Amino acid sequence: MVVMSSPSLPSVSFERTQSVAVLGGGPGGYEAALAAAQLGAEVTLVERAGVGGSAVITDVVPSKSLIATADAAVAISEASDLGVQLFAKTDSGKPLKPEVAINLAAVNKRLLSLARQQSDDMRAQLVEAGVRILSGHGRIDGTHAVVVSTGPGGTDFDRIEADTLVVSVGASPRELDSAKPDGERILTWTQLYDMKALPAHLIVVGSGVTGAEFASAYMNLGAKVTLISSRDQVLPGEDRDAATVLEKVFTRGGMTVLSKSRAERVERVGDGVVVTLSDGRTVEGSHCLMAVGSVPNTAGIGLEEAGVQLTDSGHIRVNRVARTSVPNIYAAGDCTTFVPLASVASMQGRTAIFHALGDTVIPLERRRITANIFTAPEIATVGRQEKDVESGAINGYVYKLPLAANARAKMMGIKDGFVKLIAREGSGTVIGGVIVGPRASELIYPIAIAVERRMTVDQVSRVFAVYPSLSGSITDATRAMHLVNRDDDFFG
Ligand SMILES: Cc1cc2nc3c(=O)[nH]c(=O)nc-3n(C[C@H](O)[C@H](O)[C@H](O)COP(=O)(O)OP(=O)(O)OC[C@H]3O[C@@H](n4cnc5c(N)ncnc54)[C@H](O)[C@@H]3O)c2cc1C
Repeated sequence: MVVMSSPSLPSVSFERTQSVAVLGGGPGGYEAALAAAQLGAEVTLVERAGVGGSAVITDVVPSKSLIATADAAVAISEASDLGVQLFAKTDSGKPLKPEVAINLAAVNKRLLSLARQQSDDMRAQLVEAGVRILSGHGRIDGTHAVVVSTGPGGTDFDRIEADTLVVSVGASPRELDSAKPDGERILTWTQLYDMKALPAHLIVVGSGVTGAEFASAYMNLGAKVTLISSRDQVLPGEDRDAATVLEKVFTRGGMTVLSKSRAERVERVGDGVVVTLSDGRTVEGSHCLMAVGSVPNTAGIGLEEAGVQLTDSGHIRVNRVARTSVPNIYAAGDCTTFVPLASVASMQGRTAIFHALGDTVIPLERRRITANIFTAPEIATVGRQEKDVESGAINGYVYKLPLAANARAKMMGIKDGFVKLIAREGSGTVIGGVIVGPRASELIYPIAIAVERRMTVDQVSRVFAVYPSLSGSITDATRAMHLVNRDDDFFG
């Protein structure tokens, strides 16, 4: 019998020490391992690249660090709109307007070192929590064991028996035979950080979240960018008004957006690349970023042999508590059928452990998920969207308020963006929202709370927002929605 207690943590008791083996140390595996250690289990985590996973080493941390640099470059170049003038003097005392220059080698060095630091910090946290970490490539052996190839060349093997297995092996960039990355000119997003100087002309194939974020960042760093989108608008599937704002900003910034254009092949020609579109047109550039999705890292790791059901795309089928078709095997993150976000992966990892070890579990719901696209402006969303209302999937109403109407936005020189709220018809319950604007990722939080706590527009409208503030647009929107919904909560 193990009893774990601390003044700040709930105590949990088991008949005997539970053992947990976690395959993959990204956000999903990291959180599962920490939660299991917190609940008193004996935990082993197997990771082949580095704790923090792709999220920390190649995806979220480096890309958002790059975007922070791009944001700084934009802030400097737009400062003159607010009356800030930068100039140097020549020997004769004449003012010279300096140009913003990006030292990409230094930028990349910084962001890779941030990623390494973050990975080390996460590793240290796991060790402190008592998690045993094994470095090497792992695979499932039956339903209760993980085998790890360790040592030089993967010639030694460790076998870990465990009551519960959590698979969180993530995903890798999709590679097409017709556009094979060479790591120099034709690149996946994991290869971008080897560039020593800004690309003269970056062609981005794919206008989903990853493609749009990198196109936005490199444009703002000063590169010429062409974005190739097979759809009629960038960010297919996202809020249409948000995509319209973004496309306008892209075009205004000098980006060429080729919509309804499918890239058929990408070839390296000398020191450049040529992208051939399906209608025969060609686009020439210095580099090409392929952002055409990911494939789960689930092949050849013993899942099918253990009876774990996969989809045709290789994703692991999980239910809302992250359990697979095998009762003691759970899966979290991008290798599953759920939403591919770092925040979701860690929530799934935690939920899996709570379910396996008998703690209180709240099954995951898509309607609670908050997401952000780190373009400039950012696009943050939570819950239900306007398209759900339009399709009749929900009975709701939508209100959109441009940020241009907000006093603080005017003071800050913000030209683009809006707050959009979606509420349920009749009750006025806030069920979703979109914010397009600077730091939308931070501004969406009150709407996420409203969605999570099922607050009505009237309840949100009674919350004091600071004047002047961008968040004031949220209360303004809920106040406007009161008229549509005036019977609700009138005496509340
Ligand atoms: C460019 C980019 C930017 C992104 N930005 C954001 C963002 O801003 N916010 C957000 O929420 N999400 C973002 N995402 C998505 C996010 O990166 C993923 O959702 C997240 O990494 C998923 O975490 P995970 O734990 O499932 O997998 P991963 O982070 O991929 O980790 C899986 C780990 O498993 C290891 N592994 C795989 N197979 C084995 C094996 N057989 N043996 C041992 N180890 C193995 C890998 O080495 C890896 O470390 C971004 C994605 C991309 C591509």
